[in-house]
Amino acid sequence: MKFFLSPALFLVSLLLSVVSLNASDKKQSSPVAIAIHGGAGTILKKNMTPELEKAYHNKMREALEAGYDVLKAGGSSLDAITTSIRIMEDSELFNAGKGAVFTHHKTNELDASIMEGRNLNAGAISGVSRVKNPIDLARGVMEQSNHVMLSGARAEEFAEKISIELVDPSYFYTKRRYNQLIEVLKTDPDAAVLSEDKNDKLSFHGNKQLWPDDKKFGTVGAVALDKNGDLAAGTSTGGMTNKKYGRIGDAPIIGAGTYADNNACAVSATGHGEYFIRAAVAHDICARVMYKNISLQQAADEVVMDKLVKMKGDGGVVALSPKGDPVFSFNSAGMYRGYIDANGKIYTAIYGK
Ligand code: ASP
Repeated sequence: MKFFLSPALFLVSLLLSVVSLNASDKKQSSPVAIAIHGGAGTILKKNMTPELEKAYHNKMREALEAGYDVLKAGGSSLDAITTSIRIMEDSELFNAGKGAVFTHHKTNELDASIMEGRNLNAGAISGVSRVKNPIDLARGVMEQSNHVMLSGARAEEFAEKISIELVDPSYFYTKRRYNQLIEVLKTDPDAAVLSEDKNDKLSFHGNKQLWPDDKKFGTVGAVALDKNGDLAAGTSTGGMTNKKYGRIGDAPIIGAGTYADNNACAVSATGHGEYFIRAAVAHDICARVMYKNISLQQAADEVVMDKLVKMKGDGGVVALSPKGDPVFSFNSAGMYRGYIDANGKIYTAIYGK
């Protein structure tokens, strides 16, 4: 049997395809935007070498451009933030992935989380030592498990099961971060226990000149808006130098270090995690936007510059509005940060005003 279209039917189907083409054109032209941070803290220009400053700007640009390319090609905000965060995790410049800080026990224990604004789905991992890109595992938890947060060795078992790249824990050793721990241990009464460690092959060669910004929180994070109007947020960290007893910070806590809701904003935080958890920073910012009907900048400033300051909690956030407006707020001297906004403008910065 042969099928053919009557002229009337042909006209109707032509009309329909033009209408649907227009609709998808419209979708394509929705604004896309991405913003990132690479940690906040005592980052002062007078302590920074021009080479290092350039390296930070370049790496942030690379992360932003890679994420933005994903968005421009029609990819999701989730894909964009994982792409950007992975680049920062693979860099020694930031306290996440390869550049993670050391715990009191001379290990590296990583935390990460991710959240989707369209359905409030979220995934997180904490205290892993063998996952090369913790943001990938956080996403795996969200998309391929029935849970929101997995921790430690069992989380690594899950990583293996879903084919997330694992590495030997020694992958995370960097001299800079190890030296940083040794410096901190000099003032830690518990450190006596560690000095008896005769098998310690790692040596301390002070090279403080090169890393003037070690009094900072170097967590990385990204927020993005895609062509469908969907927001996403993600955060990844090594936590804080000399952390003890399996300490977990705010980065993997949904509502503290990370939050995304299409109705309000996407937020990723960096700072002294104990305070950010207690202040429920990321969720509080989104909640203020929704309940108080104030701008995202005002909401972020109320939480970071007032609530956190009163609690004496150092750090900052990067956030994105449902329209793709990037917002930064930090109460520390500086914050590695950048964005590519809805107009395609690229911006990176390090110091405060
Ligand atoms: N927020 C992280 C934590 O407390 C630290 C950081 O931002 O660098 O684990």
